Amino acid sequence: MTNKTGNIILIGMVAGAVLGVLGGYFAGSLFLSIKFLGTIFLNALKMVVVPLIVASMIVGVTSLGDIRKLGRTAGKTLLYYLATTGFSVIVGIILVNLVRPGEGVEYFGTAIPELVAQSKEKTLVDVVIGLIPDNIVGAAAEGKILPLIVFSLVFGAVLSASGEKARPVIAFFEGLNVAIMKLVILIIYFAPVGVMALIGAIVAERRDTLDELVTGLGWYAATVIIGLLIHAVITLPLLLRYLGKKRPFTYFVNMGQALATAFTTASSSATLPITMELVEEKNLVDSRAASFVLPLGATINMDGTALYEAVAAIFIAQIYGIDLTVGQQIIVFMTATLASIGAAGIPHAGTVMMVFVLQAVNLPLEGIGLIWAIDWFLDRCRTTVNVWGDSIGAAVIGETAEIKGGPS
Ligand code: ASP
Repeated sequence: MTNKTGNIILIGMVAGAVLGVLGGYFAGSLFLSIKFLGTIFLNALKMVVVPLIVASMIVGVTSLGDIRKLGRTAGKTLLYYLATTGFSVIVGIILVNLVRPGEGVEYFGTAIPELVAQSKEKTLVDVVIGLIPDNIVGAAAEGKILPLIVFSLVFGAVLSASGEKARPVIAFFEGLNVAIMKLVILIIYFAPVGVMALIGAIVAERRDTLDELVTGLGWYAATVIIGLLIHAVITLPLLLRYLGKKRPFTYFVNMGQALATAFTTASSSATLPITMELVEEKNLVDSRAASFVLPLGATINMDGTALYEAVAAIFIAQIYGIDLTVGQQIIVFMTATLASIGAAGIPHAGTVMMVFVLQAVNLPLEGIGLIWAIDWFLDRCRTTVNVWGDSIGAAVIGETAEIKGGPS
């Protein structure tokens, strides 16, 4: 895709979003009737996610060459993810303690949302067990990304070590990878219409809760958004500038379509195809880094989600008049970080994982019922930051010795 076409599509997406907001608000029923156009866009993105992850991870791993290089790259990637996620949680905890948005909010006894109640029984051990798929096709069919990543990583490493006989298999995945990326470009052409339809429908559906954004939950939403902005506009760009050696503003503009898609779909996984295309083709990050870092990042690197979880948990404590000690806030820090790693890159996953954070410090799960009302909006904001964080991670890892030193 040429730069000019890319820019036209980006402008189309922004115009689509604005039209969606206005149309959804003032002509709700019309925009609800064209929601299917958005669903088609979303389905098309999800359609390519599984083959994209498998092909790109395998190509990424096999092109890294030797297994030690892979180990070091994986280690640095995880370290980078943990550090940035941890930092964003600290920003969130400081902010929510300063703003204290929960004080004075009246608790209007809401029930635990269905989606959250279902996951109440899930433990951390279940999450770890879930990493190893008992059926790889089943995992793919259910859209379970993490087990697919684990499989592709190991499979790629084994292919690398299998010599001549495995060459055709590697070549197959290389070809598949190229073809899928072409498919992604076709889907991007449809993005302006998809964005308009999805945003229009969500605004039409949630018109009533818009009031809550500005009233009772306003300070809470503002705290999350300010925290996200600090992370997205200060912390991450500094890392991008000094570790990733890229100009933050240009990088941001080049990521525009992915960020708009993240906001529209509230899903890092669904956005992944577009993130990959832009990081590699527009921001010119080494494809070995991008194909390894981005799929992993879409599911385990969620800076926005982690910040949100910490703010939300402490906000709920404030509503109930519970003063969390420093020790308990440290537990919130650790569990929010872990919960964000465990959360899938799909809508509301972060809020479902809140169960884990609240239980760790004995806070009432019913608090989730309260914040659920505006989760549709905050979910979009944090997903955008999650995707921004992933794309910067790719640039940073792209500058490491393992990637820079080897043949491309
Ligand atoms: N929707 C988010 C994402 O896909 C996860 C979350 O709910 O925080 O990145």
